[in-house]
Parts: sequence; C-alpha cells; structure tokens
Amino acid sequence: MIHCSATRADRCYTEYDLTTDHLRRGFSGAGYHYYIRKNGDIKSLRPVKTPGAHAKGYNAHSIGICYEGGLDTNGRASDTRTDFQKHSLRVLVMLLLKDYPGSRVVGHRDLSPDLNHNGEIEPEEWIKECPCFHASTILQDPPPQNPAYL
Ligand SMILES: [Zn+2]
Repeated sequence: MIHCSATRADRCYTEYDLTTDHLRRGFSGAGYHYYIRKNGDIKSLRPVKTPGAHAKGYNAHSIGICYEGGLDTNGRASDTRTDFQKHSLRVLVMLLLKDYPGSRVVGHRDLSPDLNHNGEIEPEEWIKECPCFHASTILQDPPPQNPAYL
C-alpha cells in the first residue's frame, strides 16, 4: 500500500524524522516497511514479516511503502514524486510482486469506503488524498529508453 509522508516539496523529511514521529505516536518504530527519499533511496524501516502501522484494518495483511513528499510548496496535496522516486517505486513494487504475486497495488486513499457502492472509490469519496497520485500508474511509468544491453 502506497503512502506519502505529507511533506512539502521544499522540505526534507528523513527516515530518522519519520521514525521519531512514529515512536512519539506510540508505534514500535516507523509504521511503514519502506520509505523512499526524494533522491530515490529506498530505506527499509521495518521487516516485512512484522505487521506495519500505516492503515487501520489493513496492517495485518499489507506492506506499507511511503515516499517523501505529497504536498506542494503551498501545502496542498500534489504528486511531488521526483523521477528518482518514480523509478524506485517501480523497482520496489516489481520486486515485491515477484515475492508476493497477485497482491494488489493500492494507494491509501483507494481504501476509502465506497459510499455510493458502485464498486469504484471516486475522488469525492477519498477520506484523504494520500498518496496524491494513482498507485495503479506505478508499473506503467516506462523506463526512459530501451537499452541494447543490461
Ligand atoms: Zn497514507
């Protein structure tokens, strides 16, 4: 499940800040399993075997991935992912799908209640904007070019 840290694009929020904040909230450490910094660094913050603390009702059977960002410089919800983050998200999700084939890739907001029961979680039904982009596009972002060799 994909989250944003709700950090303004012009601010930094390290994995240490995140862990400290989550410890203050009473969690046993960072609530997410993975955290992706603006430079694309993937930080493992919690063993995948340990349930996360990131989405009530879903923690027992989900892996939490959070990227640094999600707010524009005015504090409004926005897809602030850098190209590095898009790439790292893609790589991480593809690898996790190898280990856990068939898992659904969802954004936090996609788990909002389907108020009009039409089978689709629509923007007006979102409880929150997190992660501020369509999680289903993660695997659609193609590599920039088709290299002749790997
Ligand atoms: Zn979230």
